[in-house]
Amino acid sequence: MFALVPANGENTFRLAGARTRALYRRCENFTSPAACNWIVPVGNSQSAPKLCVSCRLNRTIPDLSKAENATWWGRIELAKRRVISSLVAMGLPVCSRATEDPQNGLAFDLLRSVPGGPRVMTGHDNGVITLNVEEADDAKREQIRLQMHEPYRTLVGHFRHEVGHYYWDRLVAGSTWLEGYRELFGDERADYGAALRKHHQQGPPSGWSRTFVSAYASSHPWEDWAETWAHYMHMRDTLGTAASFGLNSSIAGLQIDPFPKTALHDPDEAGAEDFLNFLNSWVELTTVLNELSRSMGQLDFYPFALPVKAVAKLHFVHRVVTSRQEQCAPALRAATGSAE
Ligand SMILES: [Zn+2]
Ligand SMILES: [Zn+2]
Repeated sequence: MFALVPANGENTFRLAGARTRALYRRCENFTSPAACNWIVPVGNSQSAPKLCVSCRLNRTIPDLSKAENATWWGRIELAKRRVISSLVAMGLPVCSRATEDPQNGLAFDLLRSVPGGPRVMTGHDNGVITLNVEEADDAKREQIRLQMHEPYRTLVGHFRHEVGHYYWDRLVAGSTWLEGYRELFGDERADYGAALRKHHQQGPPSGWSRTFVSAYASSHPWEDWAETWAHYMHMRDTLGTAASFGLNSSIAGLQIDPFPKTALHDPDEAGAEDFLNFLNSWVELTTVLNELSRSMGQLDFYPFALPVKAVAKLHFVHRVVTSRQEQCAPALRAATGSAE
């Protein structure tokens, strides 16, 4: 992390103490309701991006002439920046479908249903993530959470789930991971529409909690992947934050039954031990955080119980992610506080 120091050019900055002499300016959305605090390298050409890595992913933003849309958009972009910064740290490709990579890039349509029109559905389709911006209305989101019998519903959670679908397309479809994916998560060629209809009409199968991270994950192999991916991102972000404040599981001194190495997807791969530490640190940390939440009369911090079968799926997601960029491994070790 570097401090910004003003440079000679108008509204330009350098990084204090950094080797680079590169110039930066604030993202153009700094003064918008998105209140983006990210920076953009100053380019020589007219076509150099004026929006940061996160903001330039937007294809559609809500109508800002309505005051509540501006408030909601601000909340949405805050959540989105958190998720995008994690994706960058994970070494994953983050390119704008609108301006950089029309074939494989990522785009966001942040939409609101109009009166009398069709309801905007949050979801992913071929690189485009649609978010119903009313999800940023706390009362509405809580109402939907209760209706859907969900233990957890947040903007960050929506983004983590939907980018999971996007990266399935990018990293698993047509790759050497596909066979292993089908063995663990099931065959994604099962009728998707019919599976979701069944889930919404009949609910999850009994005993789902022995196999899946959430009830919704049981609806279809794609949803299982997206839910597992979202949990993997919850873990990485939260454990990383805990480590940056010097919190690690040894502080808790808890006696938990750790997951054994045999629960992993591949107990013999080089990073298996690190991943197991990461996972067991998560169980310890969330045990403490849930107790803290209860002390304040709040809902559980992490209202889920990981079954052993989900551990193999989480390890699989981790292996797919780290196979993209080997330099992610030291970051993971830092997040868990385990030794080199
Ligand atoms: Zn920005
Ligand atoms: Zn989904």
